[in-house]
Amino acid sequence: MTCPRCTAGLPAVAHFCQACGLDLRSGDGSRRRSFAVKPDEPVTSFALISTIMPRGAGQHPQTYRIALTIGLVVALIAAIFGALPIALLVAAFTVPLVYIVYLYDVNLWDDQPVKVTAAAFALTGLLAALFTWGWLQVVPPAGLVGGPQPVTLLIVGVAVPIVAHVLIQLGPVYLASRPRFDDLMDGLTFGIVSGVAYSTFDTLVRHGAALFGGFVADSDPGTWVALVFLEGMVKPLLYGTAAGIAAAEFSGLGRGYDGFTGRYARGLAEAIFATIVYQSGAYLLSYLPGFQGVALTLLLGLAILAVLILRVRVVLHTALIEAALESAARGDAAIGADGSLAFCTSCEMPLLAGAAFCNACGTAQRTRPRPSGVGRPVEAPRTAAEPVPVTSGSPGPVTRENPIGPATTNEGDQS
Ligand SMILES: [Zn+2]
Ligand SMILES: [Zn+2]
Repeated sequence: MTCPRCTAGLPAVAHFCQACGLDLRSGDGSRRRSFAVKPDEPVTSFALISTIMPRGAGQHPQTYRIALTIGLVVALIAAIFGALPIALLVAAFTVPLVYIVYLYDVNLWDDQPVKVTAAAFALTGLLAALFTWGWLQVVPPAGLVGGPQPVTLLIVGVAVPIVAHVLIQLGPVYLASRPRFDDLMDGLTFGIVSGVAYSTFDTLVRHGAALFGGFVADSDPGTWVALVFLEGMVKPLLYGTAAGIAAAEFSGLGRGYDGFTGRYARGLAEAIFATIVYQSGAYLLSYLPGFQGVALTLLLGLAILAVLILRVRVVLHTALIEAALESAARGDAAIGADGSLAFCTSCEMPLLAGAAFCNACGTAQRTRPRPSGVGRPVEAPRTAAEPVPVTSGSPGPVTRENPIGPATTNEGDQS
C-alpha cells in the first residue's frame, strides 16, 4: 500500500500518511478537520492552548489551562475585594508566567532557556515601558477630556500600534535570524513572548497610578472585573498572537529564516491592523460610562482575538503540512531515520523510520517537545540529552556530540 499523494510506503493499518500527513480514510489532503498539532481538533477552532503552545500540545494542555484559570481567578477576586494593585499585578503577569512555565516544560531552546526567554521578554518589556510612558506624556489619558479628539485618535489608535509592533518585532527578528532558532515554531514563540511582554508593560505603565499611587478614577467592582479580564487575558493574547503571526512568517518554512519577505510584510500588516482596530475601538469606547466602555472593549478584544487565533492555526497547520510535503518530495529523513525506535508523544504508538506524522493519530512530529527530540532514542536516559557544560554556551550551528545532535540538525533538514 502506498500513499496516493507522496507514494510513501504505508503500513496497512495507517490512518495518516507518515510522510505527508494525508488523511488516508477521507483522502483529505488539506486536513481541515484535523489540526496537524492536535488532530482531534479541527483547524478552524478557538482552542487556545494548542494554538499558542503547539509543542507537546497533546501531552498536558490541562496544566496550562488550569494555571491560566487560577491566575485570572486570583486577579478577579482581588478586584472584587478592591485590592486593585494586586489584581492588576497578578493579571499583568499571569499569561507571561504561564508561558515561561510552558517554555521550560517543553524544553524549547534546551541550552539556555533562561537567557533566551529573559532576553526576548525583558528587551520588549523595557522598550514598551519607555515608549508607553513617553506617549502618555504627550497624549491626555483617554476618557478624561470632554470627548474623543481626532488627533488623539490618530496617535493612540494608529501611530502607537504601528510603533508598538516595530518595537515588538526587534527581539524576535534578531533571535529568529540566529541559526539555532530559525524554525517556524521558534519564530512563532518569540513573537508571542514579545507581544505578551509589550502588553504586560503597557498595562503596568498605563495603570501606574492605580498600582503605585492608589488613585482610581471610577472603582466599581464590575468595571474592574472586566478590566482585569481585558488586561490580564485578552490584551496579552491579542498582542501575542498578532506578533506571533508576523514572526512566524519571518522564520518561514525552509532551512534558515525567510527574512523580510512579502509574507512577512503581510503578517506584520495583519498584526498592526488588528491592533489598530483594537486600540482605536478602546479609545472611542473609553468615552462611554465606566462599566459599559470596558465591557464593550472586552467584547471587541475577544472578537479580534478569535480572528487572530484562527489565523495562527491556519499558518501553523499549513506550515506543518507543506514542510512535510516538501521534505517528502526531497526525500529528506526525519524522525528515527537512524533506525532508532521512536514513539508518538500524543498516542504513544511506535513511529515508522523517518515519520513526519504519526500513522495512527496524525500528529505532526515536528511539534514534539525537545527533550525527547526528533530522532533521539526514547530509551536514552534524560541526562544524555542535556548538553555538557562545555558545549552549552557555544553559539552557532548545532554541533553537540550527544544523541540529540543528529536530531536537531534533522529538524533543520526536514523543514
Ligand atoms: Zn503521503
Ligand atoms: Zn500518534
